[in-house]
Amino acid sequence: MEEIVLRLKELLFPSIADVAVLSVDVSIAMVRVDAECTGNGAACPTCRVWSDRVHGSYLRFPADVPSAGRSVVLHLKVRRFACRNSECTRRTFVEQIPGLTRRHGQRTERLRATLASVGLALAGRAGARLSSTLGVCVSRSTVLRLVDALPEPEAPAPRVVGVDEYAT
Ligand SMILES: [Zn+2]
Repeated sequence: MEEIVLRLKELLFPSIADVAVLSVDVSIAMVRVDAECTGNGAACPTCRVWSDRVHGSYLRFPADVPSAGRSVVLHLKVRRFACRNSECTRRTFVEQIPGLTRRHGQRTERLRATLASVGLALAGRAGARLSSTLGVCVSRSTVLRLVDALPEPEAPAPRVVGVDEYAT
């Protein structure tokens, strides 16, 4: 059983550390993945001081990339840590899993990236339609918002200097 759970972790989160799969439940329309964070603490997002003082825990339900036509939802147990820095303005904070979650995120990072790619290729309305076909129900404004949240691409350095630039 333990070996199966380890292989599920490799299958579902191949490049993500500090997450363990507890169980996977498959129904007709949905896959539910119960998982938890396994890091030995987290850095405060305000002061960056490391803390392992657990203040509590709760479940988050980020949507993930669909699997075999079924929508996938994580039931992810996350911990709230108390900041150890007495001068910090933040008293507690919730751990995040790099590459998987972000603060207040309703989708995993890979689902965000997938929807943003769909939005870049098709824009809002068609992007939302394709996403629905793929098993993710989002509005066109959500698709556009995810595209809008992408970092600006870096402008390539000019390869040829024109006469005007040369004169100055
Ligand atoms: Zn802090």
